[in-house]
Formats: sequence, structure tokens, C-alpha cells
Amino acid sequence: MGDIGIVAKQFYVRVDLERCKGCELCVDACPRDLLIMSKRLNSKGYRVPDNHSDERCIGCRQCVDMCPEAAIEMDKEDVSAPDRGDMSAENAG
Ligand code: SF4
Ligand code: SF4
Repeated sequence: MGDIGIVAKQFYVRVDLERCKGCELCVDACPRDLLIMSKRLNSKGYRVPDNHSDERCIGCRQCVDMCPEAAIEMDKEDVSAPDRGDMSAENAG
């Protein structure tokens, strides 16, 4: 039997809070409704969305493209789920 590893992409969306003007266009743009405005204000007094990393993010970049302030960046990373072959430690006598 071969080992099967699962490789998935995990996307991270980061908002540069000081660039944000609180327009909420990113919130409306997300097809998965993952972006939510927080109650926090940046130094200019704008309400900003929460940064998040969410496994439901499909990396479509709609939020990135929609932001008029270029305040959103997206990274991705391979996430490999190791198989469950847990090797127990042996005490050598
Ligand atoms: S990349 Fe797409 S799915 Fe992910 S938060 Fe942005 S709009 Fe939503
Ligand atoms: S689209 Fe950009 S400026 Fe508008 S709320 Fe989202 S991060 Fe802020």
C-alpha cells in the first residue's frame, strides 16, 4: 500500500491597514464572504477589515483586484498533510 499525502494550497490575505480607506469593496467582492469589517479604526479613522487566513479562501484575488488603495496582498503556501504513520520512539536497551 502506498502512502498518500494531501497537498493543498492555503491562501493568506493581508490588509495594509494604514492604506485602507474603509470602502468595503473587498467585502462585497469576496465570493465566499470571508472578509468582514472589524470595529478597529486605523490612524486616519477608517474602519478596516480583519486580516485573515481562512481555508475556505480560493485565492481568486477578487479582493486584491477590487481594492482601490492596493491595500491587500495575498500569499499562498503549500500545506501538506502528512500521513498518519506515527512512529513511536523506541527505548534501546
Ligand atoms: S482571494 Fe477571493 S476568496 Fe480569498 S478572501 Fe479574497 S476574494 Fe475572498
Ligand atoms: S477595498 Fe481596500 S480600501 Fe476598501 S475596505 Fe477593503 S482593504 Fe480597505
